[in-house]
This record gives sequence, C-alpha cells and structure tokens, in this order.
Amino acid sequence: MVEERMDELIKIINKANIDYYAYDNPTISDQEYDRYMEELQRLEEKYPDKKREDSPTSRVGTEVISSFKKVTHEKPMLSLGDIFNEDEVVRFDEKVRKTISNPKYVAELKIDGLSVSLLYEKGRLVRAATRGDGRTGEDITHNARTIKDIPLTINQPIDIEVRGEIYMSKASFNKLNEEGGSFANPRNAAAGSVRQLDSSIAAKRNLSCFIYHLPNPEDYNIYTHNDALKFMKELGFVINPNNKKVNNIKELMEYIDYWTINRPKLAYEIDGIVIKVNDLNDQEKLGFTARTPKWAIAYKFPPEEVLTKVKKIVFTVGRTGQVTPSADLEPVRVMGSLIARATLHNEDYVKEKDIREGDIVSIKKAGDVIPEIVKVILDRREKDLKPFEMIDNCPMCGSRLSKKEGESAYYCHNNECPSRMQERLVHFTSRHAMNITGFGDAIIEDFYNRGYLKNVLDFYHLDRFKEELMELEGFGNKSINNLLEEIENSKNNSLERLLFGLSIRHVGEKTADILGAKFKNIDNLMNATYDDIASVYDIGPTIAKSVVNYFSDDDNIKLINDLKSEGVNTVYLKEVNSVETIFTNKTFVLTGSLERFTRDEAKEKIEALGGKVSSSVSKKTDVVVAGVEAGSKLTKARDLGIEIWNEEEFINNLSKY
Ligand code: NAD
Repeated sequence: MVEERMDELIKIINKANIDYYAYDNPTISDQEYDRYMEELQRLEEKYPDKKREDSPTSRVGTEVISSFKKVTHEKPMLSLGDIFNEDEVVRFDEKVRKTISNPKYVAELKIDGLSVSLLYEKGRLVRAATRGDGRTGEDITHNARTIKDIPLTINQPIDIEVRGEIYMSKASFNKLNEEGGSFANPRNAAAGSVRQLDSSIAAKRNLSCFIYHLPNPEDYNIYTHNDALKFMKELGFVINPNNKKVNNIKELMEYIDYWTINRPKLAYEIDGIVIKVNDLNDQEKLGFTARTPKWAIAYKFPPEEVLTKVKKIVFTVGRTGQVTPSADLEPVRVMGSLIARATLHNEDYVKEKDIREGDIVSIKKAGDVIPEIVKVILDRREKDLKPFEMIDNCPMCGSRLSKKEGESAYYCHNNECPSRMQERLVHFTSRHAMNITGFGDAIIEDFYNRGYLKNVLDFYHLDRFKEELMELEGFGNKSINNLLEEIENSKNNSLERLLFGLSIRHVGEKTADILGAKFKNIDNLMNATYDDIASVYDIGPTIAKSVVNYFSDDDNIKLINDLKSEGVNTVYLKEVNSVETIFTNKTFVLTGSLERFTRDEAKEKIEALGGKVSSSVSKKTDVVVAGVEAGSKLTKARDLGIEIWNEEEFINNLSKY
C-alpha cells in the first residue's frame, strides 16, 4: 500500500516537474505540488527502506530536455527546503543551534523567478546558465545578455561565478499578457522568456535579475554572506535592497511579518522569505542534503487560495435544525492550518457555484477561521460528475426537511432530532453562552447516548448520575466534581447568557444582550408582545417573531420554569444603566486619514461610546476604521478578516447614539 502510494506520488511529481521546468506550463498548482512533495517526504522518512533512489525528493528540478547547449555546474545549484509557518521558523533556528552556538542570519526576499548562474572571465560575462537538474543546466548566455540588470562587464577584471534570480516585474508581466501572452504567472513567463532560442524575444520581455549567491567566497577572502552581497554589489551586480542581516529570531519574525503585509507594494512577485546563516564557516559546518543546503530555508507565504479536491458533500444538522451541506476535502494547508472541511452554506450556494463531489476547487480561509470554496476549476472537472442534489430527509432522524419561505436553508423540524439536541447541548455550554467548561462535543455525544443528557435542564440533574459517571473511562472523582461545580456556578450567570444558550432561532449573543438589557428578566420577556420586542432598537421583525414563537411553546415555558426551580438565574445582572452601544467593549484601530475628524476626535467619540482604540491591528481588533490612503493596517485587517468601516459607516454608527 505504502509503496504504491509512493510510486503514485513520484509519478505525479515527475510529470509536474517536466510540465513546470521543461515546458514552463504547470498543470497543477504550486500548493498541490508542495503537498505531494511533503507527503512523499513524510512517507520516505517513515519508511526509509522503501525510499527509491530516483525519488524527486533527492533531486533538483528536472533533467534538461531542451535543444540548448548543456552546461555542467562546478558546484551544484540546489533548491531550498520549505517551511510554511512561524513555528517551523523557530524549529529551523533550533536545528541550526544544535551545530552553531549563536547563529546570525540574513533574511532575503524570495524572488519568484528562475535561478541563473553567471560566469565572468577577466570581468566579462562569458556564460549564463539555468539551474536545470542542479548539475546540468542550459546555456542561455544569448538571452542573459539582453537583461539590463546583468552587467556584461563588471567593475574588476576578475574571474568569478555569481548566482541569482531572473524575474519578470509585475508591470512587464501585465504588459505581456495584455499583448496576448498566456503565461500563468511572472515566474513561468520569465522562465519561458530566457529559454527562447531567439534572443530578440527575451529582449522585448524586459526581464530583470537580482544576484544573491557567491559560490566561491573564499577565493575573494570573504567570510560572511552579508559581505558577499556587499562585494557583489561593488562589482556592479543588482542586489536586492531589502535584504537584511538579523541578529535574532525576533528580528527575523519582524522581517517576515513586515513583508507578509507589504509584499503587494513590491514591483515584482515574491513567494516567501529566504533565511540564510550569515557566517560562511557556519554554513560549511551545517552542510547540505542532496537537494538543499542545511544552512538556509525558504519560508513560503501562505497562499491566498489553495486547490484541493471535494471528496464528498456531507450534511450536518445544527441546533436550530438547519441542515447545512459541507465539503469533505482532501486535507490541505491554508494559511498555516490543515483544512479538511469547508462549509457550503445551503443548496442555492452549491448550485450557483456548481460544486460537485470529485471537483477540484480553490479554497481560502474567510476571516481567520472558516474555510470557503472560492470556485470550481472547471478545466479539471472529470467527466460524469453528478450535479449536486439537496437531500429530502434529515440525515440524523430521517424526518422530512423543508424550507421556510424566503429562506434558502432547509430545516429539520423534529425538536427531538438527536443531532439538533446534541448541538443545543454543546451550544448551551459554550463560552459566550453558559460558559460551562469541561464538556467537549465528544463528551456531550457520549452522555447523550447514555441518556444522562437529553435537554439543557439535564445539566442541572447530572449529579444524579455521579456514580455512573465515575465508572466511565477518563473520569475520576476530581474531574466529575469539577464538571458539577462548573454547572453549579453557571446558575449565577446573567440573563443574556441563558437567552443565548437556549438556542432560540435568530437570537445570537448580541441580540440576547440587547433583549436582556431591555427586559431585565425572563418573565418580562416571556410576557412581551411582538410589538414590544420589535420596537427595541436593533431588533428586527424576524427576531421578534422568533422570540414570541419560542415563548408561546408550552414545552419551552416548562423548561424555563424548571430551570428556575433548579436555581438558574433569569435576571439581567449587568450594569443596566450603562447604555450598550455597538462600540461597547470593542477594540478599534484607526488608519488612513479621516475627513471629518482628527484622530484624537475619532478616538474620543469611540471611547465615549464604550470602545477602546489601539494603534496596531491584531487578532484582538474588532473593527478597523479606514480613511483615505489607508495602508498596511488595512491590508492586515483584510488578511485577518476583521470588520472594516469606511468613514461614512463610522459616522452612521456614531449617529445612532
Ligand atoms: P523553490 O522555488 O521553492 O526555492 C528555491 C529557489 O528559490 C532557488 O533555486 C532560487 O531560484 C529561488 N530564490 C529566490 N530568491 C532567492 C534568494 N534570495 N536566495 C536564494 N534562492 C532564492 O524551489 P525550486 O526547486 O525552484 O522549486 C520548487 C517549487 O517550485 C515548489 O515548491 C513549487 O512551488 C514549484 N513547482 C511547482 C510545480 C507545479 O507543477 N506547479 C512543479 C515544480 C515546482
């Protein structure tokens, strides 16, 4: 089995390598490629005796198959190891530290082009070659001569080899495509251009080149990478001005963070940051693998969108009975985390995007957490994939599903549906509801199946099963007592937590708070009419109808009375006098210039309405108010999925109070 999978992966990777390196025409995405490589590497590490000698994990690129003259590299031109998140950066540093006591690094932009070796004799360019398979490349001297960043003569009449990256700027790439070019990205366009027999084509394509490596530094009495960069600059090569010597991991992370946000401002594409040990002696101590140096690593930026396959479309039943289709995906890494499921929202959404089981789709993480399918890659759809069909019956209890008028979601209306009941129990304990810690989904499912928990009232009777609970694997006296204590404490919660926890349709955390603040206790709310509720600011007709419906059901009234008898508080305990606004307890960041306020005035307004203003955007930021010419803070807010208001929205929200 393992061998078969390894063979299969090698076949896929070898084909991708030829399409990518030899024909400059990738047929799978870089992320898919990286994923196959990672899987193969993992298997080879786990089963070293099954590793094939010809594995692409021990090779660079692919064999040269073009009609160009072949060039043998005296020192092999290697690839770089890949890492994908900041934890892995830390691990790289730790690994280096096992050999080197106090390593310093140079951090560089990872230019998305193709590497080139340039050979000078007595200061004159005599040969330019591609990397090829690392040992043998192609002679592209005729094309390199057309690239203005590659000096034909350098400032000293010496023999020297330097290496760097030929790339195409975004502007040249756009121009090329406007003129009818059909390259997938600037990297492929650059590679396709230098591998033209007719040098007038490369000349027109306006390529550029940064130099970043000196293969034989000892010949010039150079002992650090940073000095090598300086030396090559003096010789007349173009060195990237953003390279930076970093003294510790903190500075390195700052560099990574800065370029993660600011890369759109560059005139060329970068796909990551290269981290190199600065001291060349240290580099030598660390050495190489067959494919990569051990003294350098490429941190790859998380891709905005990643391709993967929809294995199956499955349905889940939420606490309100809503049946939601989701896509079971082939696991893929998006922004550092492994994603195996994406929500498909509802039938209309799936049909509009025409998502089918077996499709290759591009996914991205919306906001910080929820992955979403952006589109189906129709070019890659296999024949005979069946169009999506919504199910007619609840996958859990089998009862017939139906839609509410004007809504696209289907609902299971069976209040006793096991899935709905368990979801309601999970929700009741959640952090913003009754905040009863110690119950995960699995425990609730187990207690439900054993009959200890059927509805939320049962939490307050759980002590009746104390002896049975003690028998369960994984539970001891202490953990049971903790659970019971958590449950007991939850009785003192303020009303809005209970309201939110009851899973009343359309009553989210904020609505529960508004209702609590307005009606003060549950009896007032139970006795309120539709008009009483609908007239509350920020409460619309749908919510009002749903609340009235909920409290007109005898079972729900009984539940509330039983909860009260158990001692559960039903009074709003928060500072009722303080006006709750949409600014209350939220953290704002101001960026760009506002036309109607100075920063200080805007800050005062926010604070007067209960909000806080902070200077930098982080996961803790709730809202970014963006004026004109907002820069990196806005970009970061978008990346983190933070709510963004323009000045008009800001003024509208202020004017509500
Ligand atoms: P790589 O692009 O991941 O990294 C190594 C290369 O980075 C070096 O060879 C060099 O050319 C370049 N580089 C840019 N700036 C640099 C700097 N400042 N210092 C040092 N090097 C710098 O490795 P690779 O072997 O060229 O290509 C592998 C990658 O190419 C894969 O991870 C994948 O993303 C892509 N690929 C895609 C397909 C596909 O089918 N889509 C196929 C093959 C490869």
